Amino acid sequence: MDPLLMIPGPVALSPAVLAAAAEPPVSHVSPVGIASFGDALRAMRRVWAVGDDHQPFLLAGSGTLAMESAASNTTEPGQRALVLVSGVFGDRMARILERRGVTVEKVTAPVGEPVSTAAAAEAMDRLRPHVVFVTHVDTSTGVRTDPGPIGAMARARGALLVVDGVCSVGGEAPPVADVVLTASQKALGAPPGLALLVASPAALQARLAQTSPPPLYVDWEEWLPIHRAYEEGRPSYFATPATSLVRAMATALGEIEDPAATVARHAAVAEGMRRAWSALGLRLVPTEVAHTASTLSALWLPEGTDASFVGRIGAQGVAVAGGLHSEIRARTFRVGHMGWVTTQPALLARTVRAVGVAMRESGLEVDVDAAVAALTEG
Ligand code: PMP
Repeated sequence: MDPLLMIPGPVALSPAVLAAAAEPPVSHVSPVGIASFGDALRAMRRVWAVGDDHQPFLLAGSGTLAMESAASNTTEPGQRALVLVSGVFGDRMARILERRGVTVEKVTAPVGEPVSTAAAAEAMDRLRPHVVFVTHVDTSTGVRTDPGPIGAMARARGALLVVDGVCSVGGEAPPVADVVLTASQKALGAPPGLALLVASPAALQARLAQTSPPPLYVDWEEWLPIHRAYEEGRPSYFATPATSLVRAMATALGEIEDPAATVARHAAVAEGMRRAWSALGLRLVPTEVAHTASTLSALWLPEGTDASFVGRIGAQGVAVAGGLHSEIRARTFRVGHMGWVTTQPALLARTVRAVGVAMRESGLEVDVDAAVAALTEG
């Protein structure tokens, strides 16, 4: 049997999403293909909590492609961008922007913390960036940055805000921003393979004003008429959509019936996980609960263990992830708790039990039953 997938993406999927993904492929110009694409786009507006003036894009590709698309449609060579870095994915965004010929300044927070609003404001005043980039939840540190104050500061200075929501959309409160991008394999609960982003009218306007267009495949101008056609129920083609994944995505988005309740459920699950980790004597990488993500736990390895600890958890039938951030890679491990599993208390309990048993097998004295009980003792 495959292990229970509790890494921070891809995640375990609901039976309905699995069934949708297993359907025979459909044509992108068939009624079913068009309807599922249109359904997914409408559902994106609902989950992102934006109106009809915002444009969703759904492209075949991973989260990095969504980053490319956001970066290259909102910036041009020679412009200035500020990147607030709370882990490895901010650095990735900076690399993407540098390749676009953008002048990039990074403000990097200490590991376990978000960039402070004071540091962000200082950098904005000095650099006068055209666009500010922030990672909502950095998957390498488990740190959540509140995009609210950053967006307000950017707007006040005439800059756009782009939020990397790969590890947040669906599991954290939707940010108010000019672009919020994500991927299919995390809190939205679909298989890997789709890049999703939603652009504000100001972001769309920035693309229209460009004199150096983005690479063709990620160009919003190419995709706009295609997406509009699918939403209006008309066949259209620019590049073949991943029709099977789009069907699975439409099903997954449909399962997020009440986005606010889904976000609240992720927060409650994260709180339970934190109680369980605490009962096991484990410590989180984020230095404060206020900036700890709801979607994953980045944890310090237990005393006396090394990276092989992740394999010990795996031997219990639960797949968790090792460290990712270069500064803490060898000393941390990560557990995802987003998407469908947040509706499955038994799977969360199985995960805590697997970690606890792995600790016991590493020679540590822990009360595994108490940790599992702590999950639900709120
Ligand atoms: N940003 C964040 C915050 C991520 O967690 C990830 C993937 N873990 C990415 C970007 C890149 O996404 P992908 O691996 O799907 O290209």
